[in-house]
Amino acid sequence: MATAADVAEFRSTQRDLVAVALDELVRWWQEFIGSLTGDVPVPEIEAFTASLVGLYGDAAALGAADWYEELRESAGARGRFRARMADPAPAGQARAVARWAVGPLFGAEPDSAKALEHLSGGVQRLVLQPARQTIADNVDRDPADARWARVPSGATTCAFCRLLASRGAVYHSEESAGGMANEYHSKCDCVPTPVWPGEQEPYDVDALVEEYAAAREQAGGDPKAILAQMRRDLGIN
Ligand SMILES: [Zn+2]
Repeated sequence: MATAADVAEFRSTQRDLVAVALDELVRWWQEFIGSLTGDVPVPEIEAFTASLVGLYGDAAALGAADWYEELRESAGARGRFRARMADPAPAGQARAVARWAVGPLFGAEPDSAKALEHLSGGVQRLVLQPARQTIADNVDRDPADARWARVPSGATTCAFCRLLASRGAVYHSEESAGGMANEYHSKCDCVPTPVWPGEQEPYDVDALVEEYAAAREQAGGDPKAILAQMRRDLGIN
């Protein structure tokens, strides 16, 4: 069974990977911005972003596949199973994120720091995307009835993530997750974690359920209103 310590360790290796990718991004960016004369060649930014998230996304997916197999073995789940790695974020997706991120370079007062901040958030999310997808895909393929839970982490977790986490280990296919569970915002450090029958989630699901129920009682049934209520109640985003 995945313990809280297992999740923390996995998260920390994934974070390290993101940190290395972001270091590389910052170094490249400084050189790129420093050598700019005239128009900004956006396709160069797109191409760099796509290759960066391809490279580090592969490493992240490999880490996730290994982690899946380790946890599965310790769960004693039946049958032989080889975890597959998900593909990195498609180049078209990475390019679109880059195009959006560098918008602040084209304002009345070009803001390169803001553009880099957006781009860093996008790179973080896109590097982790294939790792998260790897967990979700293998849960779907696993003949041993695996499910995954969205395990929150960090000092604060946003209302959207807390709501998804409050469901516990219920996620197994995009349909059953209502699609939403596979969405991650920039800087999100939630970890989709596989759980097998008879195992418990490695975090306090009940506390999150209570939080959600309290907000629902105040706000009524509309999910948006519930999220807004949770933000007010908890002083979070
Ligand atoms: Zn999150």
